[in-house]
Amino acid sequence: MQTVQHWINGAYASPADGGRTADVTNPATGKVSARVALASTAVVNQAVQAAAETFPAWRDTSLTRRVQILFNFRELLNARKGELAAIITAEHGKVLDDALGEVSRGQEVVEFACGIPHLLKGGYTENASTKVDVHSVRQPLGPVAIISPFNFPAMVPMWFFPVAIATGNTVVLKPSEKDPTAANWIAELWKEAGLPDGVFNVVHGDKEAVDTLLDHPDIKSVSFVGSTPIAQYVYQKGTAAGKRVQALGGAKNHMIVLPDADLDLAADAAVSAGFGSAGERCMAISALVAVGGIADELVAKIAERTRTLRIGDGLRGTDMGPLVTAEHRNKVAGYIAAGESAGATVVLDGRHVEADAEGDGFFLGPTLFDNVTPEMSIYTDEIFGPVLSVVRTETYDEALGLINANPYGNGTAIFTNDGGAARRFENEIEVGMVGINVPIPVPMAYYSFGGWKNSLFGDSHAHGAEGVHFFTRGKVVTTRWLDPSHGGLNLGFPQNA
Ligand code: NAD
Repeated sequence: MQTVQHWINGAYASPADGGRTADVTNPATGKVSARVALASTAVVNQAVQAAAETFPAWRDTSLTRRVQILFNFRELLNARKGELAAIITAEHGKVLDDALGEVSRGQEVVEFACGIPHLLKGGYTENASTKVDVHSVRQPLGPVAIISPFNFPAMVPMWFFPVAIATGNTVVLKPSEKDPTAANWIAELWKEAGLPDGVFNVVHGDKEAVDTLLDHPDIKSVSFVGSTPIAQYVYQKGTAAGKRVQALGGAKNHMIVLPDADLDLAADAAVSAGFGSAGERCMAISALVAVGGIADELVAKIAERTRTLRIGDGLRGTDMGPLVTAEHRNKVAGYIAAGESAGATVVLDGRHVEADAEGDGFFLGPTLFDNVTPEMSIYTDEIFGPVLSVVRTETYDEALGLINANPYGNGTAIFTNDGGAARRFENEIEVGMVGINVPIPVPMAYYSFGGWKNSLFGDSHAHGAEGVHFFTRGKVVTTRWLDPSHGGLNLGFPQNA
């Protein structure tokens, strides 16, 4: 059986490492498809060393050359994205179309990073003081770490590495050990695009690899995406070690439907955003707040649409694939049991599902709860599965209060035809990414992605201007070309004249 190996300095590490491994499983069949090496501290150190040794040459590589390589990478990715999507489906389980969508959204960040010369332009002030000029530049940090979750094995790393590389940093990526192969495919593509060895390295692993990166003095920044407890841990440990850290965490995204909304459009959106990727998206809608007497009709429309979904192997043209592991499937099934015993109305129960797949995949059908109340665990917890909870409120204010009281603040949406209500919501809601009649408001690459509250630790969101800022540090240069009139001693604080 093949072992997914680390990619260090432009080549696969030798299997002679003899270290720990974990199984990689195809969630649609339940079969182990490969093993993945779990890096020891020594292996992570090798990758960081490669990144550190390559950094001086890469930061001095001209912007023109860097951009040519980025364009090459973009062209190769665009031509061959089907290969990457198939890898994602085989290890994550999401359906092929969805995997292609993930790659396309990642590719948009590559395209954004192709414009890096413009984004890196500094400022210049002539005669700030008499015959004194000032200019500013932004310079790369050095070797940077990216630590990513299982649910977007291509897109989430691509939120960061195109910008990190374009701005002159070198990268050590530690992808999720559950679906590691996408990262290696990307590493090979970079090599084909002409990226010098050592600029982009991949170490596979678990806590040992992550802790080594967080402690390593040569790693200058950490971009993490994953669950809230680990995001908080990474933020605290990384910042304590003096690093710049952006740590994106979990979510519990609400969608409010006001009585004037088009209920057919709202039902379509709720099903797509609740059950797409089996609910394993940080921007999935998991709580729907039906305001003012529309719940019966809306729940009926959602149920009717949900019954038409085809569940099965993502390579078979189905709508929804399996969950990522048997353990996770069982955990989500446990939440369904808890919701039922807490007294929520089970409209659709995903525990009884017929899946179009061979073998024993980790399937769970879409589950719809009505009459959910805020103290139930299906409401309080991030379930990260195909479970949609409908909460009923009388008023908009009650609905708004629910969202603002929630500890997470990643994404949210409102469905209404009332511009005034939508504007008020946009203004009052304490969430980082807001959709108005858009259920999954993922920002474009030239804006920045990130939530508020427990959905993000640190103050920089991903990509866009904030991404460029995160991966560079500013320097301001004050210049005076000397002439004889500048002679003489002056021990006072420099003043402008
Ligand atoms: P996770 O937190 O289990 O793992 C994320 C990364 O951390 C992986 O690389 C993993 O190997 C590593 N890790 C796991 N346990 C660790 C530990 N104890 N110490 C150090 N490192 C550890 O998350 P996951 O299950 O892979 O991904 C799902 C989670 O990610 C969900 O909570 C989801 O909301 C969140 N997510 C958030 C966003 C966002 O933008 N906010 C995007 C995608 C996913």
